[in-house]
Amino acid sequence: MAKNFLLNLLFPKFCFNCQMEGIYLCEDCRAILNINNHHQVFSGKHLNDLYWAIDYKKPLIKKLIHNFKYEPFVKELSKPLSSLIINHFQLIEKPLPFFGEGSEFFLIPVPLYEKRLRWRGFNQAQELAKQLSLFWNIPLLNNYLIKIKKTFLQSQLAKQERLGNVRNAFLVKNQEKIKNKKILLIDDVFTTGATMEECAWILKKAGAQQVIGLVIARD
Ligand SMILES: [Zn+2]
Repeated sequence: MAKNFLLNLLFPKFCFNCQMEGIYLCEDCRAILNINNHHQVFSGKHLNDLYWAIDYKKPLIKKLIHNFKYEPFVKELSKPLSSLIINHFQLIEKPLPFFGEGSEFFLIPVPLYEKRLRWRGFNQAQELAKQLSLFWNIPLLNNYLIKIKKTFLQSQLAKQERLGNVRNAFLVKNQEKIKNKKILLIDDVFTTGATMEECAWILKKAGAQQVIGLVIARD
């Protein structure tokens, strides 16, 4: 607590929307994000389903995610951002098999290539997954899914180029640990789904039984 107090004194937090001091996303601004309160079943080529908390068209969510992933790299935004995913699940009324007693699910973050990891200093999907793992008490499998190929930023490519960009970019280490597992695959934004589909494909190839995507925002 004393440490937090000092940190706040040295580096005060401000709401990214209204500049209120003390917090990155205040209650009022959080309310205008309109967290998605229902689930539309999604059926991808390899992804079994997809859950997303916010529509990426909302300027505030874009701003928050941008400040998380790019300068000034506010790593601590993983907390309010992952809480949006948690809230989304609280708002969906039907009970889900992912959490609680007897859950057979494991969390896996979409990995980054080492050069990008060094540049950012952290993997944003892994930071989100850490928070979700703590909150839901679901094991996090780190470094089982790795990225072995440098790719261009998906956001800078046309839709039809994105699939080729991520093809064969991922690898599963320790296949026997993935076999028959049910996976919640974590990322920040879902756009065309090329990255998550490629990850789901390689996880299924390693024997995963189900791969369900969880993201903050869908574009
Ligand atoms: Zn605010």
